[in-house]
Amino acid sequence: MEVPVNKFDYQQAANTHEASVLVTGNDRANFIAGGTNLIDLWKYNVTNPALLVDINRIKENKTIEEIEGGGIRLGALVSNADTAYHPLIEQRYPLLSSAILAGASGQIRNMASNGGNLMQRTRCYYFYDAEVPCNKRHPGSGCPAISGYNRMHAILGHSEHCIAVFPSDMCVALAALEAVVNVSDANGTRSIPFEDFHRLPESTPEVDNTLKHGEFITSIDLPSNGFSSNYAYLKIRDRNSYAFALVSVATGLALDGDMIREARIALGGVAHKPWRVKAAEDALRGKPVTETSFEQAADLMLEGAQGFKYNRFKIALAKRAIIRNCMMSLHPELQKPGAQP
Ligand code: SF4
Repeated sequence: MEVPVNKFDYQQAANTHEASVLVTGNDRANFIAGGTNLIDLWKYNVTNPALLVDINRIKENKTIEEIEGGGIRLGALVSNADTAYHPLIEQRYPLLSSAILAGASGQIRNMASNGGNLMQRTRCYYFYDAEVPCNKRHPGSGCPAISGYNRMHAILGHSEHCIAVFPSDMCVALAALEAVVNVSDANGTRSIPFEDFHRLPESTPEVDNTLKHGEFITSIDLPSNGFSSNYAYLKIRDRNSYAFALVSVATGLALDGDMIREARIALGGVAHKPWRVKAAEDALRGKPVTETSFEQAADLMLEGAQGFKYNRFKIALAKRAIIRNCMMSLHPELQKPGAQP
């Protein structure tokens, strides 16, 4: 096999405008912050940038601060570790802390940026093997995962073109919290509701999200309600550390006594984006906090689920995980580090 030669240019951007202009002007340019996924993709010859625009010297987007309306703004360049351990996040958004700390390893969380977490790509084995077809790498070449080894793959929202899942833990919590992604390019800024940021594969699985080339994530806003009284994040995986989710669940509940006033549930490891079903959350409103209520919501969350040869088990697993996590959210003290679930 011929070993590819990786020739590339490298520039440090002084501000977001300059970074965006540099990337917009080159179809094969990439931003780099922590680089924890980009370097993997590069080593596997899945990507081969001609220009790396380093955004680490940019002074903005490096803080976590309160914003008007009572929410919190997470700078895109703050590391995952600094976010998870920030006092405001631990106290007001413990669901987000729990989800971040369930992901990757300590070393990776120290390097990985918040913006990069949203931009990471699927860990589908075939996507990382540049010698085999893959519609996400080479549109139109086929999807070997559909008839191949698909244990980690999607059970919801997949298409005949791609059955990959989005691998982030942090983003499952951000979906449940209804975060907003602030982005910027040379022409201005816009804000994207979290549910509209990532996309399903449909006929264009090569497109992971709704960012335009050259657009840059500057920050992520968390609404004021962090569901800090009743929350839980459950990640089910093949080993207890440094593994991607087979199924994960983020739950936030607001209660009036034993009745549910508001519910948020998001799933990870099951689709091309964090999976939410508003009908399931609506169905919980006004219901008692019982296993029966959560079982009905789980059935709505999984309506239309379809597995493949090696991942059908995920449908039953996801149902049990949703019910268990909703019950766990009634006892958030069990989420504390060192507590036994
Ligand atoms: Fe490629 Fe998607 Fe198929 Fe994986 S599931 S091989 S990423 S097209």
